Amino acid sequence: MTVTERRGEVDRRIREACARCGRSPEEIGIIAVTKYVSAAAALEALRCGLPNLGENRWQDAEAKWRAIAEQTEAWPEPERPIWHFIGSLQTNKVKEVVGRFACIHSLDRLSLAQAIDRKAGQLGIKVPCFIQVNVSGEHSKHGLAPEELIDFARTVAPLPNVEIAGLMTMAPYEAEPEETRPVFRGLRLLRDELNQRAVLPSEAKGLSMGMSNDFEIAVEEGATWLRLGTILVGKEEAAQ
Ligand SMILES: *Cc1c(COP(=O)(O)O)cnc(C)c1O
Repeated sequence: MTVTERRGEVDRRIREACARCGRSPEEIGIIAVTKYVSAAAALEALRCGLPNLGENRWQDAEAKWRAIAEQTEAWPEPERPIWHFIGSLQTNKVKEVVGRFACIHSLDRLSLAQAIDRKAGQLGIKVPCFIQVNVSGEHSKHGLAPEELIDFARTVAPLPNVEIAGLMTMAPYEAEPEETRPVFRGLRLLRDELNQRAVLPSEAKGLSMGMSNDFEIAVEEGATWLRLGTILVGKEEAAQ
């Protein structure tokens, strides 16, 4: 299947999920997660109107990032890639990632927020970041414990070059996707609490949640960014 065909199918399922809960598909952005595929497949995603691309490790993404930057240099602005960093970010990679990735979805500690703020300041930019919360409590997952969120948000709120765009979580893989619902609902309630308490200088509306296996449930629970790899761009063994 081509990316265009897969995208048609994903769009249809998003529309149906939206219809079930009274949302508009316009509220939902799609990040094509290209970590399992080659630069050629990532370019195919760009060509079929998916400018938002996601990678989770700079070491693995670098060659692809550079190849795509070169190939898209002369493209009109709206078609050019907008990169999202979605994986756990080592502090020593911040200098590579900030400036190349428009948005960071994995903010999970103060030292990382400070490093992002410093690098963004040097570049004269503000970086939208999602605070990653480990709603499920699985040991293998990164992110703050839910009860740490409010205090953490208070400590990062004053950083001038870090803009908290919302919250991010990963649900455990479930054979029955419906079982992820409490995780996504939990993230939405945490976001609402954060905004109710007015901890941040401006409202954080975003919810980065939902992957290939569970995106329809995430849509029903309020996702604003879906991070879709396998189902959208496929998975090539060699590209990993
Ligand atoms: C790999 C990855 C995804 C996409 O995974 P699929 O199940 O292939 O859609 C989404 N989010 C994060 C953080 C990832 O690392």
